[in-house]
Amino acid sequence: MEIEYKRATGAKRFLICAIHADTEPGTAAFATALAAADPTNRGLYIFHGPRVTSTEFSERIFDRVVKSYDVVVSIHVMLSTSVPIYVGGRNTRLVSALRDIFHRGQQTPRRIAGRHPENIVNHGRYGGLQLELSPPVAYTQSPYHTLAIHCVNKVLAHPSYTPDA
Ligand SMILES: [Zn+2]
Repeated sequence: MEIEYKRATGAKRFLICAIHADTEPGTAAFATALAAADPTNRGLYIFHGPRVTSTEFSERIFDRVVKSYDVVVSIHVMLSTSVPIYVGGRNTRLVSALRDIFHRGQQTPRRIAGRHPENIVNHGRYGGLQLELSPPVAYTQSPYHTLAIHCVNKVLAHPSYTPDA
């Protein structure tokens, strides 16, 4: 088991997480790039180890820091390629902004909608944002990977989507 945690150096707005880094390749790179775009406001948490579901995940460092962040952004990979990224979680403002970009009007399948209060994505102060990357977006050598990071980054950085605005 190996944990990588980089604390946000300023306001703890977002904790970007890849808790399935070993079984979902590309999620650690995606999370690292998002956190690196604004290390003042964004922390990074990567878990390398046995796979635990998002509703059952518990780890000492994560549990200690998560409540000090406004919003958890949890990165996963799905098998579906019907949309670039399925967006879920309980922060409705961020979810609807990113759905407009990635969904073309489609609903997130309930199984991966990240609505469960026990899901670690919802353990921040203002709910969470769960991103289920399709395989082309997760693949780090793909232009879709870079483009998707750019889009998510723009939304997280936009003043009207800051969680406590
Ligand atoms: Zn996952």
